[in-house]
Amino acid sequence: MKKLLPTSTAGSLPKPSWLAQPETLWSPWKLQGEELTDGKQDALRLSLHEQQQAGIDIVSDGEQSRQHFVTTFIEHLDGVDFQKRKTVRIRNRYDASVPTVVGPVSRQKPVFVEDAKFLRQQTSQPIKWALPGPMTMIDTLHDAHYKSREKLAFEFAKILNQEAKELVEAGVDIIQFDEPAFNVFFDEVNDWGIAALEQAADGLKQLKCETAVHICYGYGIKANTDWKQTLGNEWRQYEAVFPKLQQSSIDIISLECHNSRVPMELLELIRGKKVMVGAIDVASHNIETPEQVAATLRQALQFVDAHHLYPCTNCGMAPLPRHVARCKLNALAAGAEIVRRELAVR
Ligand SMILES: [Zn+2]
Repeated sequence: MKKLLPTSTAGSLPKPSWLAQPETLWSPWKLQGEELTDGKQDALRLSLHEQQQAGIDIVSDGEQSRQHFVTTFIEHLDGVDFQKRKTVRIRNRYDASVPTVVGPVSRQKPVFVEDAKFLRQQTSQPIKWALPGPMTMIDTLHDAHYKSREKLAFEFAKILNQEAKELVEAGVDIIQFDEPAFNVFFDEVNDWGIAALEQAADGLKQLKCETAVHICYGYGIKANTDWKQTLGNEWRQYEAVFPKLQQSSIDIISLECHNSRVPMELLELIRGKKVMVGAIDVASHNIETPEQVAATLRQALQFVDAHHLYPCTNCGMAPLPRHVARCKLNALAAGAEIVRRELAVR
C-alpha cells in the first residue's frame, strides 16, 4: 500500500555558508570554477541528507545549484540579454531591474538535467523537481521582442516542456511549476495562463510523471510581507483561479495554508486534485510544533481526501537559517505522522 500523507517541501532549502551567503536571496557564490561545481554537488548531497534525516518522503535538490528560482533558468536561454536591463514592477509589488528579451527565446542545452541525474544516483525515493512557470518567467523580464505577454509565455512553455521531459528521463517523478504570478494576474491566468502551464506539462503524464503547480504568497521577504498586510482578513486570491485549475490537466496543486489567511474551505474548489498543503510557515523563524502541523492537516482533510493530501511547506525555505529550516522539516514529518496514525485507527 502506498504511504498516506507523503511529505515534501515546496522546493528551496538554505545553502551551506561555504557555498553562498546565508539568509540572502540572490546570494553570490563563494566558490568558482571546478570548486563551485563540486561545492554545488556537495550541497545537494547535504540537502538530501537533511531531508532524509527529517523523514521527508518526496525529496528535492533543495535548489542548491540555483541562485534564484526564476533567473537561473532564464540565464541558460538564448534571446535574453542580461546586460540590457530595465526597471519593471514584479507581480505588481516591487520594482526590480530585469533583463530584456531581445530576440526569439530558445534553450540550446539542458539546464538542470545533470543535477537531476546526480540526485537520482543518491536516492531511490521519489523526486520532485521545481521549474519556474511560464507566467512567472515573463513577469521578471522586459520584453522588447514579442511585445505580447501571452506569446512569450507560450514560447517559454515550449522550452519548459523540453526541459521537463528530459528531467523525467533523468528519473524525476514529479515536475512542479512555480507560479506565484497566478496569485496576482487573475484575468490572464484564466485567459491563457493555465493553458500555457498545460503546454509546459504536455505529455508528461504519458511518461508516468505527475505534474504540480505551486501558488503561494512568496518567500518571507519584506516586499511580500508588506504586500500581505494589504490583503485584508481573508486571502481569497485562490478563489479566482481554482475553478479553472480544477478543470485543468495538472495533477497536484501546491498551496500556502498555515499562518496565512487563506480560508481552508477554498480547497473545496479543487476537489478531486491532489493537494500539497503548506503546513509550515516560511515567513517566520518560529518552529511549528508537530501538533500545529497536524491541526492544519486535519483542517485540510475536511476538503481533501486523505489519499490526495501531501503535507508540505508554504513556500521555499532558502532565506531561513539552516537550523530553523531543519527543525521545520522535523516538525512537518512529525505532524504528518500524528495524522497518519489517526487515519489508521479510523
Ligand atoms: Zn512559493
